[in-house]
Amino acid sequence: MAYCSNCGEKIPDDAFFCPKCGTKTPKGKASNAAYPSDDLRDAFYKVGIELERAFSMAARETHQAIKKASDNMQQKPASTQGTLVCPSCGTKNHSGSIFCNNCGAKLAPAEKPQGST
Ligand SMILES: [Zn+2]
Ligand SMILES: [Zn+2]
Repeated sequence: MAYCSNCGEKIPDDAFFCPKCGTKTPKGKASNAAYPSDDLRDAFYKVGIELERAFSMAARETHQAIKKASDNMQQKPASTQGTLVCPSCGTKNHSGSIFCNNCGAKLAPAEKPQGST
């Protein structure tokens, strides 16, 4: 059993680095072991890809949810406020219609009588 020259942690005989502080052990120095930075970088890189994928999926789901919500809003039936009911036949016409699309009767007059006449 070896001990870390830096922190005194017990180190397995076959370890190249101190498990506590990462200092290279005499065995590690002897075998010229490379610091595991490449492994770490690969691990971070993979994690980054996973995160990116998760984010893009979440973004896509959010986008779809927003789209669905806006579709629902557009599909919402027009309220009676936006319709003109024909005084003659009772057909509901789109607001802004001047003549009933069913019977041709004139709908609500565009100009309200002033009452001064
Ligand atoms: Zn150590
Ligand atoms: Zn009508």
